[in-house]
Amino acid sequence: MTKTSNNHVLAADVGGTNTRMAVVSENGDILTLVKKSTHCKEGRDEMIRFIVSCAGETIEESKLPKETICGMGIGFPGPLNAETGTIFNPPNLDGWDSVPLRAILEKELRVPVAIENDANAAALGEWWKGAGSGTSSLFCITLGTGVGGGIIINGKVWHGASSIAGEIGHTTVIRDGIECTCGNVGCLERYACSGAILKRVNDALLEEGSNSSVKPLTNLKQVDQMAMQDNEIVLNVIKETGAILGIAIANIANLLNPEMVVLFGGVINLGEHLFEPLKEEVKRRAFKKATESLRIELSQLGDNSGTLGAAKNILSKLQD
Ligand SMILES: [Zn+2]
Repeated sequence: MTKTSNNHVLAADVGGTNTRMAVVSENGDILTLVKKSTHCKEGRDEMIRFIVSCAGETIEESKLPKETICGMGIGFPGPLNAETGTIFNPPNLDGWDSVPLRAILEKELRVPVAIENDANAAALGEWWKGAGSGTSSLFCITLGTGVGGGIIINGKVWHGASSIAGEIGHTTVIRDGIECTCGNVGCLERYACSGAILKRVNDALLEEGSNSSVKPLTNLKQVDQMAMQDNEIVLNVIKETGAILGIAIANIANLLNPEMVVLFGGVINLGEHLFEPLKEEVKRRAFKKATESLRIELSQLGDNSGTLGAAKNILSKLQD
């Protein structure tokens, strides 16, 4: 791919629920941002039509001539092959069995397209313009409805031999732990994603009998509120979650020795109740040499990290 003129790119963070699409400058400035609910109920073709129409709308809203948009980067739910831009049956999306999304969109939009999995895109965004700016290596952990991860080494996403690298959410933290949707047991995701924390809090409250007369908690905000009121049962679950995350991060520290771990997603709103035990556990378990140089930071870009990472991905490819 070659660059043609002074340019902007389209960048999108496409999820099963929401889509953010932006026109981004070469320097990483978001010029126009469009947020929409993803249309995907009727399957793959509807979702592809949605992405194409959203692209047209975003360019129109930017008021830039179409010719100045020299490519499009997309963060998309994995598993996918970032090199070929082929999508392989992401959970929660129907009809995406080996879909050559990159080729389809290049034909529709007539610009080069680069696709990266959403967790890797978020990692790339934080490395380029967020918490990790200036580092050469980082590991970004997404703690939301699932637990994902992305590895940046020397400013590039590390994909591994078959695009699985970074899947920290499905590494084992408890040998005979809770069954996971991936087929394994005791995966980090079963303890540290928002739904898992909520379930563990509700189970613990029920067991103690203190929640038998009230409805189960339905979101992490309520969990946080109870923690703020010093509810010991809730605090213990959050503390345990922090410690389990700490085990995973200590493993990352010893294995990859990155400069930074960036934490991202709704779960980080649990704040110090989560981070204190997390940091203690990392310190306790990892080599001193690995932790001395390790910074554990929160995402700076929030919901824009995936979009900016998608932009950086296509910009890098255009410069190759
Ligand atoms: Zn799993």
